[in-house]
Amino acid sequence: MKKTYYITIIGCQMNKSDSERIAGYLEERGYALSDSRDKADLVVVTTCGVRQSAEDRVYGLIPKIKKTNPKVKIILTGCLSSRKDVRGRLKKYVDIWMPITELESLADKLGIENGKSSSLSGYLAINPKYNSKFSAFVPIGNGCDNFCSYCVVPYARGREVYRDADEILKEVEGLVGKGYREIILIAQNVNSYQSKIPNFKFQIPNKFKIQNSKSKIINFPDLLKLANDIPGDFWIRFSTSHPKDMSDDLISAVAECENVCEHIHLPVQAGDNEILRRMNRKYTAEYYAGLIKKIRRKIEGVCVTTDVIVGFPGETEEQFNKTVDLFKQIKFYLAYVSQYSPRYGTASAKMEDDTPKEEKKRREDVLMDILRKTAFEENKKYIGKNAEVLIEGINRKGELFGKTRTFKNVKIRIGHNKLRVTNLVGKFINVQINKAEGFGLEGEVVK
Ligand code: SF4
Repeated sequence: MKKTYYITIIGCQMNKSDSERIAGYLEERGYALSDSRDKADLVVVTTCGVRQSAEDRVYGLIPKIKKTNPKVKIILTGCLSSRKDVRGRLKKYVDIWMPITELESLADKLGIENGKSSSLSGYLAINPKYNSKFSAFVPIGNGCDNFCSYCVVPYARGREVYRDADEILKEVEGLVGKGYREIILIAQNVNSYQSKIPNFKFQIPNKFKIQNSKSKIINFPDLLKLANDIPGDFWIRFSTSHPKDMSDDLISAVAECENVCEHIHLPVQAGDNEILRRMNRKYTAEYYAGLIKKIRRKIEGVCVTTDVIVGFPGETEEQFNKTVDLFKQIKFYLAYVSQYSPRYGTASAKMEDDTPKEEKKRREDVLMDILRKTAFEENKKYIGKNAEVLIEGINRKGELFGKTRTFKNVKIRIGHNKLRVTNLVGKFINVQINKAEGFGLEGEVVK
């Protein structure tokens, strides 16, 4: 009988993507997916250290897994896997500590045949087992060189490493060939992507000129254009971008490439320049606002979303109000608002975390109130218009749900033909929008 595995994922889309590669790796080596964590021979926990709440979940979960399944082997990977304090705290429960960049040597640690040889792109070259049949994360790199003062990623994942353009494009081409409709290119910092041309073998009818051909480097705008030219009916999204690396070439590529969606997620993190300086973000609020203006001018109908942290060490009421002003000025569609919590080993962990919890919560609520209003105003503009929607599933009320190219959630009421409804999952359909809500839209299928 085959040995079985189960994966529990905590955290971001990079962790979800890593888990698809872990699943692919284990299945190539004879493991089968278990339908229960309590019966699996191997449980992999993909951890997140970006927020304290995510870390606390791990401390609760790991002992529980061992208690309900004493014979299980626990593999801990993700952001917490290299941290000495976490290793000390969980050492009696965890059997294998595996920073994700060491995935290729997992077989040795499990005492099984390793099989495949490693590639220059490291673990990113492993064949994944995709979770969805129509939407796929395609990692283009791993790690970060930016060292924002609050962030664990450069310590947890290491410095930036990028995959060959050739390998990425082959993965995208394979997915599109299998009928995938949404390709999400991901890395901690997609827009600092670079791949050297000497390794570049991929051939497609390419109507765009590779801009940096003289320097023999493929950068992110080039990669987008090349992926865009793969024949097929599909969308491309990408995440996450750093404002300092958001070049004019990249904005033009998004505007020109018909398969690239009109959605830019651009973390601002704060609206006050002194806080931005102490966060080591390397831009000012004025630069950021100017960038958004440019993006909106060049990419028709673009939707802009962001990340922001409230209660960073030393953030005064006056400094927070600069973030409030920026939110009112820019009118984001969506923002992931985090209450600051010090992260082990980072530069800001040495600063005094001096904003009380209740005040952080109040600041979060202030920004969410602005967002609800600005998102609703933007959504109202869609009423009476048609939008192409990628259907992601059916909710409990029997309504279809999906997203527009501009990352807006849409619910669609549909008649009683259940088979027809089920067949629409993973397809593009044309929807007439007839209602706007705070963060979503409602509509009907255009006949
Ligand atoms: S850019 Fe900053 S916030 Fe983003 S992963 Fe790198 S260090 Fe972390």
